[in-house]
Amino acid sequence: MRAASALLLAARPRPHSLLCPRPASHQQQQHPGASFAKPSIRALRSLAASLAPAAAHPSTAALTRPPPPLLRRPATGAPAAAAAAAAAAALPPRQRRRAAVAAAAAAMDKPAKPSQGELAAACLVRAPAPIVDIGVNLADECFDKDRGEVLARASEAGVAAIIVTGCSVRSSEAARALCERHAGPGPELFFTAGVHPHSAKECGADTLARLRELAAHEKCVAIGECGLDFNRNFSPQDVQLEWFAKQVDLAIELRKPLFMHCRDAGEAFGRVLRDAAARRAGGAGAGAAAGAAAGSGVAELGVPGVLHCFTGNGEELKDCLALGLSIGITGWVCDDRPERGGAELAALLKTIPRGRLMIETDSPYLVPRTIKPSKARPHRNEPSLLPHVLAAVAAARGESEEAVARQTTLVAGSFFQLPNTVWTPLY
Ligand SMILES: [Zn+2]
Repeated sequence: MRAASALLLAARPRPHSLLCPRPASHQQQQHPGASFAKPSIRALRSLAASLAPAAAHPSTAALTRPPPPLLRRPATGAPAAAAAAAAAAALPPRQRRRAAVAAAAAAMDKPAKPSQGELAAACLVRAPAPIVDIGVNLADECFDKDRGEVLARASEAGVAAIIVTGCSVRSSEAARALCERHAGPGPELFFTAGVHPHSAKECGADTLARLRELAAHEKCVAIGECGLDFNRNFSPQDVQLEWFAKQVDLAIELRKPLFMHCRDAGEAFGRVLRDAAARRAGGAGAGAAAGAAAGSGVAELGVPGVLHCFTGNGEELKDCLALGLSIGITGWVCDDRPERGGAELAALLKTIPRGRLMIETDSPYLVPRTIKPSKARPHRNEPSLLPHVLAAVAAARGESEEAVARQTTLVAGSFFQLPNTVWTPLY
């Protein structure tokens, strides 16, 4: 652990920018043994079904006579196939052949794998009060096929509003388009406009102008996702620093909240914010100003900031709070694998002041691992699973889910200046 003044964030590996688990290409896959029936496996299934009445009346001869070889192989472990095979053995040869094929198909007929949406629907629980998901990568292509259903489920789960994360100019524009197209019912959509540190190297002469234009939209509630990621360094560090600072200045200029990301870059992260605060205060050179502002946090920024998807340790949390930041908690807190530190994060949650705590899914990443068994857990996270994060946060803080739901919604409403349609149902 480094000095207390250092802001060290997200020291351990985070799956934040793993590729989204694409939904269910496996659904199109066929069983390896199905090639002989290809492409008519469905026809075989219906053939098996058409033979089903015969299975209810197997003759004694059928039960004692050994089934033909084709029937023996697939029938094991498949009661329906075994019944069909027994019945088929009593049939005339032509029908027996058909029945044999049907029995083989029945044996291979595993239930179709549920879609990501079906899995999410199966573990949907409703929050006891309206909640706000402050971080959803809803423009991600893995939602292209069923975004409407995703939003409908979110509504069913009590999600009153979603902040769609923009992490490049292009994805911010996609987020804006989603907000414009979405005409309810369901959660209200808002978006952030910004460039993630991974994409900082893509910034160019027109980036700030385009972000400024995006930020002017009535549904744009923050600048970001911006920040630093010195773990993967997908963009050179000096480029990350440059574009993080530019976006902080833009947020100050436009009086928009900051939605931020930080990984393995704590000291530099704090320095950028303090320098910006000093610049705004009209201080001296950046270095001296940083020193002068070091103890005062970022209140001088004049805009609120949230560090989303906090996964750090106690020291890092203290530094964030000292900087004046709010904290976004994801399904990381639901992760019970010792090496991931979910339990450590849970133990810290009580120390986050109520007025600084918000919740998020960071969909499609970080599916809450409190959904068990693992087979029932979708690979793709979505806002309807936010109540699972809520439950883990409430348990960790020793508060009721309703209290945490109400409080985090009020904080999000105030932080992002959401319309009162989102939070008045709480009264
Ligand atoms: Zn992030």
